Amino acid sequence: MSQPRASIVILGGGPGGYEAALVAAQLGARVTVVDSDGLGGACVLTDCVPSKTLIASSSTMSVVQGAEDLGIRIGRAPGPAGGRVPGGHVPGGERAGGWGGRALAAVDAPRLYARIKALAKAQSADVALRLAAEGVEIISGRARLAGPGHLAGPGHLAGPGRIVVGDQQLEAGSVLIATGALPRVLPGSEPDGERILTWRQLYDLPELPPELIVVGSGVTGAEFAGAYQALGSKVTLVSSRDRVMPHEDADAAMVLEDVFRRRGMTVLSRSRAAGVKRSGDGVVVTLEDGRTVRGSHCLLTVGMVPATRDLGLEEAGITLDGAGFIGVDRVSRTTAQGVYAAGDCTGVMMLASVAAMQGRIAMWHTLGEAVQPIRLGHVAATIFTDPEIATVGVTAAAVESGAEDATAVKLPLATNPRAKMQGFRDGFVKLFARRGTGIVLGGVVVAPRASELILGISLAVEQSLTVDQMAHTFSVYPSLSGSLTEAARKLMRPAGDIR
Ligand SMILES: Cc1cc2nc3c(=O)[nH]c(=O)nc-3n(C[C@H](O)[C@H](O)[C@H](O)COP(=O)(O)OP(=O)(O)OC[C@H]3O[C@@H](n4cnc5c(N)ncnc54)[C@H](O)[C@@H]3O)c2cc1C
Repeated sequence: MSQPRASIVILGGGPGGYEAALVAAQLGARVTVVDSDGLGGACVLTDCVPSKTLIASSSTMSVVQGAEDLGIRIGRAPGPAGGRVPGGHVPGGERAGGWGGRALAAVDAPRLYARIKALAKAQSADVALRLAAEGVEIISGRARLAGPGHLAGPGHLAGPGRIVVGDQQLEAGSVLIATGALPRVLPGSEPDGERILTWRQLYDLPELPPELIVVGSGVTGAEFAGAYQALGSKVTLVSSRDRVMPHEDADAAMVLEDVFRRRGMTVLSRSRAAGVKRSGDGVVVTLEDGRTVRGSHCLLTVGMVPATRDLGLEEAGITLDGAGFIGVDRVSRTTAQGVYAAGDCTGVMMLASVAAMQGRIAMWHTLGEAVQPIRLGHVAATIFTDPEIATVGVTAAAVESGAEDATAVKLPLATNPRAKMQGFRDGFVKLFARRGTGIVLGGVVVAPRASELILGISLAVEQSLTVDQMAHTFSVYPSLSGSLTEAARKLMRPAGDIR
């Protein structure tokens, strides 16, 4: 007699949920995904995909603006004078001159935003198709746990397996919670979707914000501040800390802050925002020390709160931390038998790649497959500013504090021949290797497309390669990746050093 199929219900169709569903369906389980706001989750519809699509446009604008340094004249097409295209916004439009006529590089905000939303919608539809092709049942609605189920036997745990979606009841052997997180707002400064905004509301604006105040200088704040600055908004970045991105590599953050200021952004350090109010046609941000900052729009990027309320979690015996994030172990188990959690609702490195891996691991574990617990020390991450900042493995702070017994090297990008040809000046490659063995432990790349370059270091970290092995690997001449092999050469042990 054949075994009954394991039944799995997944709450949330973001990367934590849908990647898990694909794995479980391929392993033969009966899988249902319940999602309230659209497959692909916030990742595809409002956060990661839209922001990276916006950045694709803003970085094109940066390339255009830097073109004159490479001998390409960008200005205005010959013709009658007049700086603005209908509905368009010309970065540095006032200073462009000489040719008169129609601006060649202008931002068409309605078209830009329409492209972003269409791309997100299409990607969500792709996710739905992939799930349907694997036989995953999709239910649209808000789900919550409703106590123990009645199913038992192989693949059907006696845990809290009853799920309610509206007036529908589902039963499952295993449950995966992947409900994501929501933008945190400042109390008393609730977003109105017009002038005071979360990043999820940006793409419904009718225009580019002429004067944008970004409150919060973490990764999300830095990405949006840089993107809007490049698109032509006058940006003020309000940072409560000494420097932008206080949790990232200090040298990388300094490069970025320097670039921001050089490009005309106002960066207010050690300036904690107390509140934001609308004022006439704009907004006024009040800082805790009483100073005020005025602008046309304010974007709040002050963190995320987990979407874990009203899910019946505590009643099911699932432990949450003080902020409401679900506690999980390295195979995504919660404290309730048969209930797993993945992604932003766990607060474990809020990245799409981590959410997806947590979800897959949960499925491998519950379906009895061989599984390797998640290794967060190997996660590669990128901040999509210009230049990008990509990191993997141990941090400079851990090396400098002695927590990691490692040697380090830092090569400025400006010494790389390809960077010189391309006109890239800002950035560096940093590599860390274990003292004695030379095993690569991590690195930081600050460069255009650092998100692509980091793979070389990621491979080395994952496979425990040594700097000698990396140094013996061919890189193309001329290429930015040449700086990775050069950094490895600089860390090679002198002959005879056999420690
Ligand atoms: C601006 C921004 C840019 C980012 N860029 C990147 C990036 O470049 N790279 C990267 O790796 N990460 C990025 N991230 C992080 C990434 O978006 C998240 O880590 C990822 O979305 C987490 O996936 P998830 O599945 O946990 O949750 P989500 O993607 O949030 O999906 C959760 C889904 O669950 C649904 N849901 C919630 N409650 C219920 C319920 N009760 N019942 C049913 N469904 C429910 C939600 O509606 C949503 O559809 C970015 C984040 C932000 C804010």
